[in-house]
Amino acid sequence: MSIPFIRPKPAYLPDHYEELADIRDAGVYSNYGPVNTRFEQGLIEQLFGGVGGCVTVCNATIGLMLAIREAVGEVVTGERRYALMPAFTFAATAHAALWAGLTPLLCDVDKETWLPCAAAEETLLRHYAGRIAVLVPYATFGNNLDLDRYERLSRTYGVPVVVDAAASLGSQDEQGRGFGTGCRHAVVYSMHVTKTFATAEGGVIYCADQERLVRLRAMGNFGFGVPRTATMLGLNAKLSEIGALLALAKLGEFEQLVERRAALAAFYRQRLPTFEFQRETGRRRAYQFMPVLISEAQASRRATLIAALAARGIGAGHYFSPHLHEQPYFREHCVAGELAVTDRLSRCALSLPIFDDMTLDELGIVCDAVWEQLETGA
Ligand SMILES: *Cc1c(COP(=O)(O)O)cnc(C)c1O
Repeated sequence: MSIPFIRPKPAYLPDHYEELADIRDAGVYSNYGPVNTRFEQGLIEQLFGGVGGCVTVCNATIGLMLAIREAVGEVVTGERRYALMPAFTFAATAHAALWAGLTPLLCDVDKETWLPCAAAEETLLRHYAGRIAVLVPYATFGNNLDLDRYERLSRTYGVPVVVDAAASLGSQDEQGRGFGTGCRHAVVYSMHVTKTFATAEGGVIYCADQERLVRLRAMGNFGFGVPRTATMLGLNAKLSEIGALLALAKLGEFEQLVERRAALAAFYRQRLPTFEFQRETGRRRAYQFMPVLISEAQASRRATLIAALAARGIGAGHYFSPHLHEQPYFREHCVAGELAVTDRLSRCALSLPIFDDMTLDELGIVCDAVWEQLETGA
């Protein structure tokens, strides 16, 4: 038996022979070509109700780098040198800030939603008043952030916002709109093959502010504000036409697949009633995998549990453990506030499999195995 942690299912290119031939015939392989344009328009229609716009990027890490740099401006002025972000996130969020010359300032997360803790953010905003260049909240595992609150924080403290929504394509807010809809700040999503919106490498920056979007697109194309002429800082962040084709194909089957994954998540909650789960916010959540918490008493046996599952052919992980401040490079280059909740999540996190064609039988096998190991394991 083999139940992997993640079983990626990007589009199979031979099934898209005609579109591939079209790319060859057009002779356009990148530079925001026709397939990319169709994808960007299709995504805005399908996921964001036609509101706002987006620009694709070659991956979300580069997307975050671009968006942070666009938000803070060319020169990091005066004392504004921190990027406020949760410690409970992926390495990419901190790296993107560091590449912009900023120091990640790590805050704790809420113990139920695992989203950045509002009180912790505000404590740090006051304590580091005037020294924070950008807020980079992470929509943890596709959970919905309150973007209206970030808009208020942005206005109150005069600090721009960039949202790390790496796992959020497919998530919907309270009103049932795609997470991020209408946001005037950059919202960055990943289309990495391990995410729900699986391609190979890729990402999207959504924004309802058209001027910001025009700047981001130019920055992503060598800062060419005028054809072949750099008028601003730039790099090459473009998605290839083949990458855009993988994305367009995923878009066609996406709705069904997000629903299926959400149903699997609901079954996990039923089958593991004594486990602690992340409290969901918003109407729908895109599930990349199933994050759960084991108890403090069981935490010391997590490695044994994961090894025992592996021996039975079941894949499992522990995202995000270690959290940012537990990783040597970030410990050295970041500043952290109080991280009590993040520390506990890191100790107790267990990530269980979810993939597009996972069956309920497979899910049952995973739950039984986890249960047995924790009950009877040494
Ligand atoms: C996956 C992920 C990223 C990076 O996405 P890539 O497209 O792989 O660069 C950034 N932040 C978080 C929280 C992620 O989970």
